[in-house]
Amino acid sequence: MSPLLKALGEISGASGVITGEALAERLIPHGQPLAIVRPQSTKEVAEVLRACHEAGQPVIPYGGLTGLVEATSASQTEVALSLERMNQIEEIDSASRTMTVQAGVPLQLVQEAADAAGMMFPLDIGARGSATIGGNVATNAGGNRVIRYGMMRDQILGMEVVLADGTVLSSLNKIIKNNTGYDLKQLFIGSEGTLGIVTRLVLRLRPKPVSQQMAFVAANTFDEVTEILNRLDANLGGSLSAFEVLWQDYYKLVTTPPAKGKPPLNHDYGYYILVEALGGDDASDAERFLAVLSEAMEDGVVVDGAIAQSQAERDAMWAIRDDVGQVAQFRPVFSFDISVPLNHMDSYVRELKIALSDQWPDNKCMVFGHLGDGNLHIVVGVGDKSAKSQVEAIVYAGLPSRGGSVSAEHGIGIQKRAYLAMSRSPEELLTMKTIKRALDPNNILNPGKIFI
Ligand SMILES: Cc1cc2nc3c(=O)[nH]c(=O)nc-3n(C[C@H](O)[C@H](O)[C@H](O)COP(=O)(O)OP(=O)(O)OC[C@H]3O[C@@H](n4cnc5c(N)ncnc54)[C@H](O)[C@@H]3O)c2cc1C
Repeated sequence: MSPLLKALGEISGASGVITGEALAERLIPHGQPLAIVRPQSTKEVAEVLRACHEAGQPVIPYGGLTGLVEATSASQTEVALSLERMNQIEEIDSASRTMTVQAGVPLQLVQEAADAAGMMFPLDIGARGSATIGGNVATNAGGNRVIRYGMMRDQILGMEVVLADGTVLSSLNKIIKNNTGYDLKQLFIGSEGTLGIVTRLVLRLRPKPVSQQMAFVAANTFDEVTEILNRLDANLGGSLSAFEVLWQDYYKLVTTPPAKGKPPLNHDYGYYILVEALGGDDASDAERFLAVLSEAMEDGVVVDGAIAQSQAERDAMWAIRDDVGQVAQFRPVFSFDISVPLNHMDSYVRELKIALSDQWPDNKCMVFGHLGDGNLHIVVGVGDKSAKSQVEAIVYAGLPSRGGSVSAEHGIGIQKRAYLAMSRSPEELLTMKTIKRALDPNNILNPGKIFI
């Protein structure tokens, strides 16, 4: 064992450093590190980083390892730092509506603890059981209810971070208004472990909704889709919490066997929208929901609709939207999470489909997304595993001219590094690199991720 690993063992205890066979037994995506160090406190994280900084030892921060852009990829010369033993919920403050947590707590436990305390932590993603709250911060996770509650950035009031040299930057602020100079926590949100290790957080909790209204509605044109979004946003009194659009191909896929979902609406329309509103009074919320949708139908904006009448029907609607696994029928497939401003979305998707068909006439291109926040999921199958970079080039080509983003979720990691300049100007990239050099002069934190 190297002197550095020995020193890390002295900091985190014998069971705090995993190497050899125990390491080989772990399921680690994207390459095995030299060792996994598992500190149990902020003080230990600081001591580990101080030792690594002095030794010039690269450190790869590990959360729940659910990210899909190789942002946790590690080599045999790099040490992983896992937050798995910093998994305590430290405090729930009902008066301030905050929860103070250690960064290794899985998202689902945060949601459950908030619920048990009569409140809600609104961030929700499919990987909730494994993804940690620290990983959610480092990737600025979004999810299904961004339209109402914002992204992870909007759920954080305070943060404690350990910088590359072991400095502890503690800003465990609980107040919403705090205009005392730079808001330093913002730097670390979405930084993919390249600027510091997030160790503790003060999360903002929200009142728990008591009513959930849901419907699937259909539209024939994209203009109708945006008109429906604007109407619901304006007329549902701020309760619109999800607006998930499924293009026809994807809707057919997830409502046709072998998919288990039964179609709430027939397969004849161009666009299907899962609408959800969360409110505070079941009877009046249901009445308003019905009235707003009925009016949209009478005006011919909504061409068909089905309102969920029970919790089972609501769950079934979400299950249809979330049955992404059906795309495996077209394997090999390439998946993308991109953003496009709403006014350019229709032309972007049309052009993309034409460009793919020009090259691969039998391609499959499934499109769905959290439309309210401009985020599209695109899954492409062209029957050729080696065509990945060709498909990537086509998917990203239409974004810069429309002000789109090559990453709406997961971040950049290694996989999207080559495309970052399509979404960021040379000046922005230079400023990012200046910040990185200032906070991590020895380049030990997640080196090579986001940019080289
Ligand atoms: C099934 C599924 C559904 C998803 N749905 C969505 C969605 O709807 N919306 C969305 O936005 N995203 C979605 N994601 C992506 C998800 O947000 C990220 O995978 C997740 O937030 C990462 O958390 P993690 O703990 O697994 O982090 P990891 O995957 O372990 O790490 C991700 C990055 O964060 C860094 N990191 C981790 N912990 C820390 C820390 N404490 N301090 C500093 N850096 C750290 C890592 O170095 C790495 O760069 C989905 C992922 C999956 C697998």
